[in-house]
Amino acid sequence: MLKYRYLWFFAGGGGLPQPGEISLAHNGVLFLDELPEFKRTVLEVMRQPLEERRVTISRAKVSVDFPANFMLMASMNPCPCGYYNHPEKECVCPPGAVQRYLNKVSGPLLDRIDLHVEVTPVSFEQMTSDRKAESSDTIRERVIAARAVQDKRFENHPEVHSNALMPSQMVKELCLISTAGKALLKNAMEKLGLSARAYDRILKVSRTIADLAKSEEIKIEHLAEAIQYRSLDREGWAG
Ligand SMILES: [Zn+2]
Repeated sequence: MLKYRYLWFFAGGGGLPQPGEISLAHNGVLFLDELPEFKRTVLEVMRQPLEERRVTISRAKVSVDFPANFMLMASMNPCPCGYYNHPEKECVCPPGAVQRYLNKVSGPLLDRIDLHVEVTPVSFEQMTSDRKAESSDTIRERVIAARAVQDKRFENHPEVHSNALMPSQMVKELCLISTAGKALLKNAMEKLGLSARAYDRILKVSRTIADLAKSEEIKIEHLAEAIQYRSLDREGWAG
């Protein structure tokens, strides 16, 4: 019963179906802190909304669709003790624990997340360095400009508002890459064991990186950056 109620809270449900957290986050951000701590069944119900941007609640007599177009953000530690890959401290997890911990988050769910970013601790030297970081205002301007490019790109497609929402066929038409780019992508797919879904995602993300750089063409560096964001697909992460 507890498990069922937990799922209900998350995805929606009830005799007279009610929206859950994922629908309440419609057109907003859904943030899941400590991702591996969520029950796997809960994470698995995310797969349909991440693909279709809606969630279907089926009951004996009714089936209801709730909208669920949210931006998923999630955080996790690299391992139970938190120090795996730490530049100074040693991970004290027993053998296999790191892999078991990461396995709590399924490959198909990670597959549906565009950007995997490893955040390593900031050293004292970095914190006190004089190097000026880019201001949020400058970044904001760049994001607004890239959004404007996408508004123009999809002006005849009312159902598509951003690169992320492009269906597969549109990706083929709008995310053209050079022969060198294709070779790089093929190599990455084989080396990292990427799925067809990850392939589309890399192209969409590289389109966005090119938009942010005000480039009409998807250049090899844009593609390389997008590939780099697939770090959790890599076999041997916890090797
Ligand atoms: Zn550890």
